[in-house]
Formats: sequence, C-alpha cells, structure tokens
Amino acid sequence: MGDFSTLIKNWYRQNARELPWRSTSDPYAIWLSEIILQQTRVDQGMDYYLKFLDHYPDIQSLANATEDQVLNDWQGLGYYSRARNLHASAKYVVNELNGKFPTEYGSVLSLKGVGAYTAAAICSFAYDHPHAVVDGNVYRVLARLDNCEMPIDSGKGQKYFQRLAEELLDENDPAVHNQAIMELGALICTPKNPDCENCPVNEICISRINGTQLDLPVKEKKTKVRNRYFHYLIWRSNEQVAIRKRTGKDIWQGLYEFHLIEVENEKDQPNFPLQGDQKVMLDGEYQHILSHQRIHAKFWVIDTLDLPKVNDLMHIKIEQLDDYPMPQLLIRYLTSSKVFMVD
Ligand code: SF4
Repeated sequence: MGDFSTLIKNWYRQNARELPWRSTSDPYAIWLSEIILQQTRVDQGMDYYLKFLDHYPDIQSLANATEDQVLNDWQGLGYYSRARNLHASAKYVVNELNGKFPTEYGSVLSLKGVGAYTAAAICSFAYDHPHAVVDGNVYRVLARLDNCEMPIDSGKGQKYFQRLAEELLDENDPAVHNQAIMELGALICTPKNPDCENCPVNEICISRINGTQLDLPVKEKKTKVRNRYFHYLIWRSNEQVAIRKRTGKDIWQGLYEFHLIEVENEKDQPNFPLQGDQKVMLDGEYQHILSHQRIHAKFWVIDTLDLPKVNDLMHIKIEQLDDYPMPQLLIRYLTSSKVFMVD
C-alpha cells in the first residue's frame, strides 16, 4: 500500500469540500471545530462553529463567558458535556497556561473532552505534527482497505487500526493526509453505499476485490438502549413558570428543565404533588432518542395562582424561558405546546 497516501491526497486536492476550519491553522478554531464535530454531522455543526467563533473569537473570550451562556449557545447540538468541557478547558488554558493553547500532543490530550483522535487532529492540522487520526470514517476505510475483521470497538482492534493508520501516514504532510483519509470515508467510502468505482484506492482495496465492503467494519457489541419514562410537571401562573437546573451525574447536566418525576415503567403513574383541587392537564407526549437512551416524556401543566416554593425550583417569567439553556426535548415541547407561546 505504498502509494496509498499519494492516491488519497491527489484525490483530496481535487474533491475536498471547502470547510471554514480547513483554511485556518489557529489551534483554538481547530479545537472548537473538532469538539463540535464529535458526534455531529458537518452540515449540522457548521452554524454552531460560526456562532461560537463570532461570540467567542478567542480562548480568552470563551473562558470569560458564563457556563449558562456557553450552554445556551450550544443548545440543540446535544452531548452537552462537550460544551462544559470546552468551557472548563478554555478556563484552564487561560488561567494555567497563560492563554497559550498547548502545542505538544500529550498536553493537548490532557485537556478535558480531548481524546486520542481529537489530539491527533489538532496537532496535525494546527502544527503539522505527525500524528495519525483514527475516527469512525478512518476505521471504515482502513477495515475495508485491509479487509480486516478485527472489531473496531475492541481494545485489540483499536490498537491494530491505530498502528495501521500510523504506518500509512505521510509524516511529511500529516495535515493533508489526515484530512484526505477522513474525507474519503465521509464522501466515498460511506457506510451503506461506498462508491468504489470512483474511489482513488479501489485497485489496492482488498475488500473491494473480495466484494466484502459491506461486511466491514465489524463491531463486537451492540449498543444497548435504555428506556426512561419522564413526567414533567409544569407549574404555571399568569406570567411565570417554575424551572430548575439539572445537577448530578446524568444526562443534560447544567441545563434547565421543569419539575421532573421519573418512573420505572411505562404504565407507572407519577405521584403528582397536587394541592387542594388542583388539576393537571396533559399538554404533549414526545419521544427523544439519545445514543444509549430513549426518553418517553409527558408534559403536564398545572395552572395555579402561586407557584410552589420547593427547594431548587426557580420562578421565572415565561418570556425569559429563552435565556435558560434547555435540552432539545423541552425546546420541541415549548415550540409546539398549546399553552406556551414560545418561538
Ligand atoms: S474501494 Fe470501496 S470499499 Fe475500498 S476504500 Fe474505496 S470506497 Fe471503500
């Protein structure tokens, strides 16, 4: 596979998409793009990248922002721990490293939310350091190129493909090589419909020769999905509503929500803390899919003159709901609710 790198780089130069983070060598901007693009498609992440660079043009401005501001700007993108880590790392760089983004692989890797792939991407794209990237696209290209059935989610498989990626890396041009192999996986060697006919490495791709492309890559474990049953109880007065901030180690940490009662099973009835002759009204049912969880949510509204004074419940004006970062599930509810008129 001696000329693998030359083939993909030539193809890349003619076929690469123009993406804003590809025309910069600013490690801050590259880091931002890489964190946003973890678990997010390019078309979905683009607006967020531009918005973040606009609101936080450098690491200092990101470090100076409040967590609520950062989470609000992240709203809708999911996997909110990425935003919290981004913010924490910006503060760390500003406070501990005099605002200078680290340049060595090990130091980049030690930033919160940065794993081996992201560190290799930042170091190669920003500094042209010879580190091979291995993300989902790269696993697929390599497994097919090599016709290798080693599971990509096993420790052994990951080591094997990392080594293979390093062997194939053009150490004199790591940035373009890495971009090229990822772009090949994104545009040509796609999961279900690889365009082998137009692939620059089709003559050396063993799975193409054997006709086994669609069997690769192999995964060992099936993702288990957990069902959860949420009942949101929304106390609403004329102009106000009660919300709280999520804390604790669970999904959506740091985001805001209504009073939540979670039950074990679909048929379990929530125990509503009603007073006097208060009545609850069902205002919507939604399903929300996360990577390992399926949330079944019902939204119940209680109209009341006085909002309850319970622990961490905050009373805010309904028109201020936009100022509080919320999970996408609640945004969906609020934008289609019959009783809330929120844009
Ligand atoms: S020839 Fe087909 S399977 Fe092989 S790398 Fe190219 S697109 Fe993927």
